[in-house]
Amino acid sequence: MAVERTLSILKPDATRRNLTGKINAVFEEHGLRIVAQKRIQLTPATAGAFYAVHKERPFYNDLVSFMISGPVVVQVLEGENAVAKNRDVMGATDPKKAEAHTIRAKFAESIEANSVHGSDSLENAKNEIAFFFAGTEILP
Ligand code: ADP
Ligand code: MG
Repeated sequence: MAVERTLSILKPDATRRNLTGKINAVFEEHGLRIVAQKRIQLTPATAGAFYAVHKERPFYNDLVSFMISGPVVVQVLEGENAVAKNRDVMGATDPKKAEAHTIRAKFAESIEANSVHGSDSLENAKNEIAFFFAGTEILP
């Protein structure tokens, strides 16, 4: 295993319900270190570009509307096997299918408002981190 970095987003349903600290505690309990973090408001252009891979999916327009409905917290998580580990800690996309100990089982409101985003591969993690952060903003 190697030390990796992955891009995480605390989604608008999480910031609205004041859950950022509770979710960050779960990352830290699982050995993921928050090495960069900022609270930002996505625009239709930034949210649309970030989720461009889903452009043809039926939920794309609703997803973009949801992601701009309030502030998000974008963050870089670092740790052993961080990409896969964060996906485990997040749980399945649909909180009804997520394992009980996961963030989505504990906190998500719905399959759309599911509290967290996490990169799904090391290559996507690199691109997604560069989408939001300059190298000088990441402080291990
Ligand atoms: P994940 O976030 O688990 O990697 P996807 O990449 O497939 O899931 O989808 C991106 C996001 O789009 C999800 O986290 C969720 O917010 C939303 N989404 C996915 N599938 C659906 C769906 N069937 N209906 C509504 N929203 C969805
Ligand atoms: Mg995904």
